[in-house]
Amino acid sequence: MMFNGEYIVVLIGVRSIMLEMSARLPGENNINFTYRAIREGILSLELKPGQLLNVGELSEALKVSSTPIKNALWKLQQEHLVDLIPQVGSYVSKIDLELVEEAAGMWFDLEKECLKSACHEFPKDNLNQLKRNLNFQEMLLDQQSNFPNPKEFIREFCKLDEEFHSIIFDGLRRNTTWKAISYMASDYHRLIMRHQVKENVKQMIAEHRDIISIIEKREREQVETVLRDHIFRPMEDWGTGHKMDISEFALT
Ligand SMILES: [Zn+2]
Repeated sequence: MMFNGEYIVVLIGVRSIMLEMSARLPGENNINFTYRAIREGILSLELKPGQLLNVGELSEALKVSSTPIKNALWKLQQEHLVDLIPQVGSYVSKIDLELVEEAAGMWFDLEKECLKSACHEFPKDNLNQLKRNLNFQEMLLDQQSNFPNPKEFIREFCKLDEEFHSIIFDGLRRNTTWKAISYMASDYHRLIMRHQVKENVKQMIAEHRDIISIIEKREREQVETVLRDHIFRPMEDWGTGHKMDISEFALT
């Protein structure tokens, strides 16, 4: 099953920081594996905002040379997930709340247009993929108690959530647009991981169900309300509630 994926655990650094990640995918080369492993580590907060990323330690832990590590860090800098400071080193970037707001706004504007177009025409195959993805989300929620910790549960949910939205953009042949949103929304996902509220997940799954129904019934006029709630509501919790550790956030 998708969310019972294999995990390997590697130890990074002299302080033995645990970094859990998906095992290498079949046929995955060093460059892609290294990039994915470090990106997943950052998005799941195994690698903490502000943490030093030592090339030698990462290379030893992932059993790859320093070239794919440097390549991955450079790519992750473009996604605002890593700060490269010349002569000093690379750090996991701190969460930037302004960037989160900007990314959420962009995501809303672009997906709103996509969903309105989907109400006119949407491939049956993509609709079936959305339903299959939603089934996995519901199964995941049912099996929540089997997860060793809430973090793994949320991590698996975030993967399905990302896939859900990518299927919508794929149906409209706008894969590149989704990729751009996904890069911009990295900090949004780090905040979801950080709060790990099960009730939010339940609500998000219900909204995914509504989105499928909107496409099927061609309810164009419902798009804005449902999508606005889906994207902006989780952010209300982040602004005030929950213990904020200021050291994790960029001060702007
Ligand atoms: Zn979603």
